[in-house]
Amino acid sequence: MERNETRKAIAKDGLVYGPVHSRRLGLSLGLNICPTARKQCSFDCIYCECGSRPPLLTVTAAEAWPAPLQVEEALAQALRRVQAVDCITFAGNGEPTLHPAFAEIVTRVRRLRDAQAPGLKLVLLSNASGLRQEGVRAALPLIDLPILKLDAGTEETFQQINRPAAPLSLADILDCLKTLSHYFLQSLFVAGRYSNIDEQSVSAWIDRVGELAPQGVQIYSLDRTAPVRGLAPVALETLQSIADRLRARIDIPVSVFASSVQKMKIGNK
Ligand code: SF4
Repeated sequence: MERNETRKAIAKDGLVYGPVHSRRLGLSLGLNICPTARKQCSFDCIYCECGSRPPLLTVTAAEAWPAPLQVEEALAQALRRVQAVDCITFAGNGEPTLHPAFAEIVTRVRRLRDAQAPGLKLVLLSNASGLRQEGVRAALPLIDLPILKLDAGTEETFQQINRPAAPLSLADILDCLKTLSHYFLQSLFVAGRYSNIDEQSVSAWIDRVGELAPQGVQIYSLDRTAPVRGLAPVALETLQSIADRLRARIDIPVSVFASSVQKMKIGNK
């Protein structure tokens, strides 16, 4: 997931935060259904804004996962207080689909959205690993805009950039994505000590995206300090060139999102 925002909790237990201006989503009300104490994710991406922690595939009762009713009540309270947001986004402190009751939460949130704020889009930022579970796959059609991560086209790059929990492989993620027809991909490109912008990585990524044929792709780079040292944001021109190559391969919308620093540079030209 990408969390390029300052998290300001507006509901009890930090379940709801924002609204935040997202590079990609407009004004977004964030919904964090992961425990707030520590990141809970099946990946440990080198650039993760939640910091670094060994990845996990299953969760334990020891961590405080919010109950579905608790999530619903917190969101209802937040929706009464905020106005003029564009979407409600499942994101937060890790991978939302790891929540043991993810499907029930999505059902409740969708029902609440329909009743209280029908104009808002429901967005999910996910690394797609949870789609291996039937319950998560079944809940996905309730999300208006699933945005799923694919930063790599080869196993080597996947392991280096996303550092998944064993034995998760890129093939597992691709198999999950192949079960879907309506979703967007989000891809973060990074330079420096570890990188996915060398020719082999980019061309393999383009091949994988071409095979998957998602509804669209969002391309961006680092916007915050990463937990792994020696990483650098990718120049906007390079991101544009990767997007152009993808557009030449497949006829889908490909959007490039500049970091806040890049936007400032453009603004100063
Ligand atoms: S998928 Fe990567 S960026 Fe998103 S929360 Fe997990 S480790 Fe962080």
